[in-house]
Formats: sequence, C-alpha cells, structure tokens
Amino acid sequence: MTQKNGKFHTSHSRHRFTRKPNLDDVKAAGHDMLRLVNRRILLNILSDRQPISRAEIAKISGLNKATISTITSELLKDFCIVEDGSGRTTPIGGKPPTPLRLNAKRFGLFGVDIRADESILALGDFNNRIVARMSFETGSNASSFLNKIGKEIRKLRGKHHSFIEFAGIGVSLPGLVDNHTGKFLLSVVLPWRDVPVVQLLEKATGLPVTIDNSARCSALAEIWHGKAQYAHVRNLLYVSVSTGLACGVVIDGGLYRGGNNTAGQFGHIPINVNGPDCRCGQRGCWDLYASDKATLKRYSEMRGTGGKRISTMRKLVELVDSGDTAATDAIRETARYLGIGITGLINGLDPEVVVIGGEITKAWGVIEPIIVEETKRNLLAPRSHGIAIRPSAFEVRPSLKGALTLVQNSLLSVPHMG
Ligand SMILES: [Zn+2]
Repeated sequence: MTQKNGKFHTSHSRHRFTRKPNLDDVKAAGHDMLRLVNRRILLNILSDRQPISRAEIAKISGLNKATISTITSELLKDFCIVEDGSGRTTPIGGKPPTPLRLNAKRFGLFGVDIRADESILALGDFNNRIVARMSFETGSNASSFLNKIGKEIRKLRGKHHSFIEFAGIGVSLPGLVDNHTGKFLLSVVLPWRDVPVVQLLEKATGLPVTIDNSARCSALAEIWHGKAQYAHVRNLLYVSVSTGLACGVVIDGGLYRGGNNTAGQFGHIPINVNGPDCRCGQRGCWDLYASDKATLKRYSEMRGTGGKRISTMRKLVELVDSGDTAATDAIRETARYLGIGITGLINGLDPEVVVIGGEITKAWGVIEPIIVEETKRNLLAPRSHGIAIRPSAFEVRPSLKGALTLVQNSLLSVPHMG
C-alpha cells in the first residue's frame, strides 16, 4: 500500500519511523500540529533556497499547489515572508512566477556568547545575519553582569525598531548548563555557580531566553549554517578545543542533550587509566591530553628554559607559523590525542562529519594530517574512512553564531510528534 504524497507504507521509507511515542506527553498529529509542521518546512525551504517560487516549493516539499498557496498566503499575512519584486521572465513569455523570501525584519534575535574573558552581544535578523554587535569584559559577579547585558538588550530594542518582533535571546555559556531549569551549573573557566541565567535575563528584558553550553551551541550553528556541502548532513560531531575539551552531538538533525541535559562531556572519558588525576575525579581524561591547557603545558615542558613563555593558544599558533620546533611538536602531539579521542567517538556515534573548533584549528595544515592518519588507522567500520573531518565553518566565534541559532531553532525547527 502506498500513498503518493504521504510516502508511508513503502518498504524503503519504513526505516524513517524510528521514534517510540512518549505516552507521558502525547503530541498527536492534529490539524494544528500538521499545519505548524508544514509551515515550518516551508520556512526552512525559503530560508535555504530563497528567492524561490511557489512552484519550486511545491516540487521540493511534495505538497500540492493549493496547500502551498494557502500556507504562503498565511505567511505573507503574518509578514514572515515577502514577494520578491517582479519576478523573472519565462522563456515562453508567460506570467513570471513571483519569487518569495523570508522577511529579514520579521524577527530580531539576540545572541549572547559568554566566555571567561570577553563576552559578545549580537542582534541578528530572521536570516541570522548579524546587524549589531558589541563586546564586554565578562564580570565575575553573574547577576550584575547579566543585568548589564539586559540593559544593553533593552537599548538595542529601542534603537532597532524596524524589527516587527524580537523573538528571544540565546545564550552560549562556557561550562555545564541545564537548559530545563535555565541554570548555568559550573565551569572551570568562570567563577559562576548555579546561576539562574534564564530567570535573570527574562526579568531584565521581558524576552524568552534559551541557554546552552558553547560546544552544543557551536554544533547547532554548524548543522543550521555550516558550509553548503554539509546541507545533507543529519549527524554531526562537534569537538570544541579550548581551555577544556567538550563536544556537541547532533543526531538526525537535532541536538542531543541527554537524560539530565548534560550530554557532550566526552572530554572526561579516560584514555589512560594510569594517567594523571583529573579535576572530575577520574584519571587520564582525554581533556588532560588534548585541551589548550594541555597543549600549553606540553609546550612549556618542551621548550625547556630557552624558549618563549606564552599563555594563550593564539600565541602558540603564531610560534608554529614562525617555525618554532617546540611549539610545532606540542601541537602535533595534541593532534595525535585529538585523533585518538575522535576515533573512539566516530566508532561510537558514526557521524557523517566531525567539526573541530578552537584556536588550534588555525594550525589546520599541521594538525589535519595527523588526526586523519590516527583515525584511518583505528576506525572500525570500513565506511567510516570516508568521514569528513573539518575545521569549523565559522572563522570567528562559532558559539556566537550558535547563541543566535538557539533562537532561530525555536522559530524554524520541526516539533516532535508522537
Ligand atoms: Zn576528567
């Protein structure tokens, strides 16, 4: 039995139905839910392919022209989309189709990327294009710092009144985050503990706030806004190499957050049971071998008494560029450990793409061959050998893009049904 548009009951599509329904929180597919899903699919097609005609949208979505016409009329009425000028002329001289676009000014999105030293606040439009951006020194007192950010957001709202609506604030944080309770739990780089970030910022701005940790925000940014060749990617592993090591995992297009909402802390998988003590209570964690802290420590041991004393990865990468042997060896060793950890994660997760973010990727020419060699040697599944391992698509602060994407995700993602 088949149904043309619904595409169900065909043998090759059966594998797409994989979720067990959640009977504690049933979301049956009523008319409103179907309408929402179709509306969001259309917004995604528009976001990805704009400018695009109704006929092309019908072709991509598999929905009939009448349904497309109904939904686009609604979206035009809600100012979510706009008709794009007069359209192109057709070769046979018929009435040209009117292409559609997202209305960039429909929603303003705020993104806050909090890091140990410097935090950035940005305002993006519905296309996730940044229209305003400012930076602040991160304060050690969380509530007064967040109040200050709240005040700046109120100012930006006043200044950018061409936006029809401000959809919310996404916040990227450097440490453990529980985005069910809206709290920032703890971090090794920031002296904030159990901070109710969502509550504080919502009170200061009146806007809905979503938070997540920087590795997961970066993973989200890659899946929504990464390079065009990732457009087909549904499963992605993001490895954030900074002071610590953390990961973001995207499974079937969605961020995996885990049962207690703290998933992604692969930096604390021991890779050497006889290794040094880790702050997490275990020994020989991956973090102790492949984080920036580990690389800088290795460099200072390798340079002996003669070399330069340095404290940031940026400076270490500059030394690599200038041909410094100790700096190059330190980074090469880190690449080997990155390869060891990534191999284990590829074996376990089978992502289509592994994206690495952090200052160390500025030395991509040095680290890539070592990481690739390490993974090739140890991967289990033969198909895993073709896995793409790439530096982040974003030159500057993927986590800022990710903070904005948290808000965009709430406007464009397709809800779970069942
Ligand atoms: Zn650990």
